Amino acid sequence: MISNNTANGLNGQVFAVTGGASGIGLSIVSALCERGASVAILDLPNSQGALVATRLQEEGKHVQFFDANVSELERLDDVAAEVEKQLGPISGFVANAGISRVCAAMDYTPEAWRETMGVNLDGAFFSVQAFARRMRAHGGSIVMISSIAAKHVVSPETHAAYGASKAAVAHLASLLGIEWASLGIRVNAVAPGYTDTPILQKMKTDDPSTVAAWVNRTHLGRLLDPQEIANSVVFLLSGYSSGITGTVLEVDAGYR
Ligand code: NAD
Repeated sequence: MISNNTANGLNGQVFAVTGGASGIGLSIVSALCERGASVAILDLPNSQGALVATRLQEEGKHVQFFDANVSELERLDDVAAEVEKQLGPISGFVANAGISRVCAAMDYTPEAWRETMGVNLDGAFFSVQAFARRMRAHGGSIVMISSIAAKHVVSPETHAAYGASKAAVAHLASLLGIEWASLGIRVNAVAPGYTDTPILQKMKTDDPSTVAAWVNRTHLGRLLDPQEIANSVVFLLSGYSSGITGTVLEVDAGYR
């Protein structure tokens, strides 16, 4: 079935975004709201999620905050059920929540390794599974946020667990996109390059030479704006991408 959602008309459709309280996730939430969608922000209880949702509601947007830690795997089915109960049948889901801890490979403890995998890989898979179960009856579109660190050895930062988790996320999107194609559930990944989120704002001040080195490896010669990542996610959630599943879309400013 070809969805008739266009990128400009997601009116009344329901989407959920993990890590929607900040950075790229917040840009995705805003982009979906701008197009008339109802959006669930799933984020940690101590995040800006509740605040952000209130601000967007005051602007007349249909947004609701849900307390959801994606590494609490057993809770994710209940979270998806609650979103559906409050907002209605779910059209799309974005597995965006992620952490990036710098650690030399020689120094990882099992706990530090598992922390990153628990959020970035286990949390992504089981949140996608929970929301896909809700889409089984009517189909939908899922986007998983990977990273350029999935394919490239980024530097000078060292975060082997992050790179490995994001490579797994990219391949998972391909696996699930094919496995669930017959259910009308499309799954794709977006792999962003260095994006100007709050954490990079701080890096620009604290370590401008590292930021310059990253920019030097981009052929567009700049950091990405979170809005540029959000636009690609909206495309993959919308009917404009109805023929696309199991792909990884690199939105990386030509990083090589
Ligand atoms: P960010 O730190 O600004 O936002 C991440 C959000 O995820 C926060 O709101 C945080 O509270 C939430 N979060 C963290 N752990 C969570 C958990 N266990 N459960 C639920 N929510 C949780 O980060 P960002 O830069 O916007 O990154 C968003 C995604 O994009 C991440 O997956 C990141 O790996 C990926 N990414 C970012 C960049 C970049 O340059 N910013 C580049 C490539 C990929």
